[in-house]
Amino acid sequence: MMTTKEIVIVGGGITGLTTAYYLQEAIKDNQLPYKVTLIEASDKLGGKIETVKKQGFTIERGPDSFLIRKEAAARLARRIGLEDQLVKNNTGKSFVLVGESLHEIPKGSFMGIPTKLSPFMLSKMFSLKGKLRMLRDLSISKKEAQSDQSVGEFFRYHFGNELLEHLIEPLLSGIYAGDIDQLSLMATFPQFYQMEQEYSSLIKASRQTMGQKDKKTAKKSSKFYSLKDGLESLVTQVKNQFDSSIVQVLTTTKVNHIEKKPVGYHLLLDNGEVLTADSVALTTSVKQAQRMFSQYDFWEQFGEMKATSVANVAMAFDQAAIPTDIDGTGFVVSRNSDYRITACTWTHKKWPTTTPENKALLRCYVGKPGDEEVVNLTDEEIVAIALKDLEKIMGITAKPDFHVVTRWRDSMPQYTVGHLERLETLSHDLDDQLPGVFVAGNSYRGIGLPDCIRQGEQVVDQIITFLDD
Ligand code: FAD
Repeated sequence: MMTTKEIVIVGGGITGLTTAYYLQEAIKDNQLPYKVTLIEASDKLGGKIETVKKQGFTIERGPDSFLIRKEAAARLARRIGLEDQLVKNNTGKSFVLVGESLHEIPKGSFMGIPTKLSPFMLSKMFSLKGKLRMLRDLSISKKEAQSDQSVGEFFRYHFGNELLEHLIEPLLSGIYAGDIDQLSLMATFPQFYQMEQEYSSLIKASRQTMGQKDKKTAKKSSKFYSLKDGLESLVTQVKNQFDSSIVQVLTTTKVNHIEKKPVGYHLLLDNGEVLTADSVALTTSVKQAQRMFSQYDFWEQFGEMKATSVANVAMAFDQAAIPTDIDGTGFVVSRNSDYRITACTWTHKKWPTTTPENKALLRCYVGKPGDEEVVNLTDEEIVAIALKDLEKIMGITAKPDFHVVTRWRDSMPQYTVGHLERLETLSHDLDDQLPGVFVAGNSYRGIGLPDCIRQGEQVVDQIITFLDD
């Protein structure tokens, strides 16, 4: 008789949930003699995904959507029966606040990088000097091949400071909330490095590649999906599909320490219990993984892998409280502006299903490198900061009907230069010293929801291959 193998997943965010879900599928489909235990330290599943329902509004505390282009998230949603819940974002103008003015993001911008020249040349966001500097990219020689460099260094070389600080940096901050002069190019935008190596000029390269695609689909199309009932429905639906004879879920249970044994692993829990496992998926931050396996010094290559702290405040208004009819979906704030909010989503415009008729929902973000302390202010202080900035930018003087403030401490992991090389070393070290232990999640190979879900899928294959051997 075959003995049952035990798989433990540490962390019940979307990465851990995906891993558990696809493991259950594989176990059922192939009648594998495996059991899964998912352990989550907090009292609820979902990690950074959290939806609040209030007075008819659907408010996201964490992520509000996921990229359509990266298919793993929609694949999961469809697989668990949420296909009819998928909604696309309203396409509208998006803006960047430079100095005191909102400027429309030039057409043909891909994360701030020009794939078409004329909208950038006509934009009032850049000075003549800034535009001339951008054009130098057309005659620039490529840099010597290198294994990695910072996003800041790379784009500054091609386009100069102005494009970087006015547009690329604020757009990237929305995803990575980090310091672009430390952020790894190869872990974030490796395609631009490849384009440089092939064409030298990024503008020329974009015209050859992305430009052609743009011409075919001249109309602006939606780039994001969300779920009608909020993203937490993804969490609830996955959870509801767990078959307790295969997947056991333990919340309010923290893994303190993991020890390697002659066969498998012992996981020491904060309630004093010890779990045994033949294979372990770690879907927590690197910092937590480091703590659980503190006796292994190979984690030290990540040092104190930094994660930025951010907060956001969602504010509900009557439509009438917004004096000018806003035409677009939101704005990001350039580094050089004298404002403390870093971005604002006009949620009722971007995601109409979130907001009742004649109401408006604005979600402002605070917290960036150099201003992380803002996260420690009280709710009222954070609301006051957001309202002061919104009054200056959009002329809003009304107080919101209500607000929801959310703090995310150490939550946006920073992929600094050399990140991919460190991951390669880590996977060799794990193979070598901790066989059967795998890592996935937003500390590793992508922080967006589709990236986390894809990593969950991959860990399932790794675990099954390992246990099959
Ligand atoms: P987490 O969600 O962090 O889950 C890890 C889990 O592990 C946590 O629940 C934690 O409690 C648990 N844990 C930790 N240590 C232990 C332990 N020792 N024992 C047991 N359990 C433990 N992405 C998008 O695609 N679109 C967006 O719009 C978007 N917006 C975002 C907005 C904000 C404010 C933030 C913070 C992130 C956003 N992201 C967005 C990124 C995305 O939400 C995250 O990268 C993703 O949710 C991370 O999932 P995860 O499962 O890897 O990690």
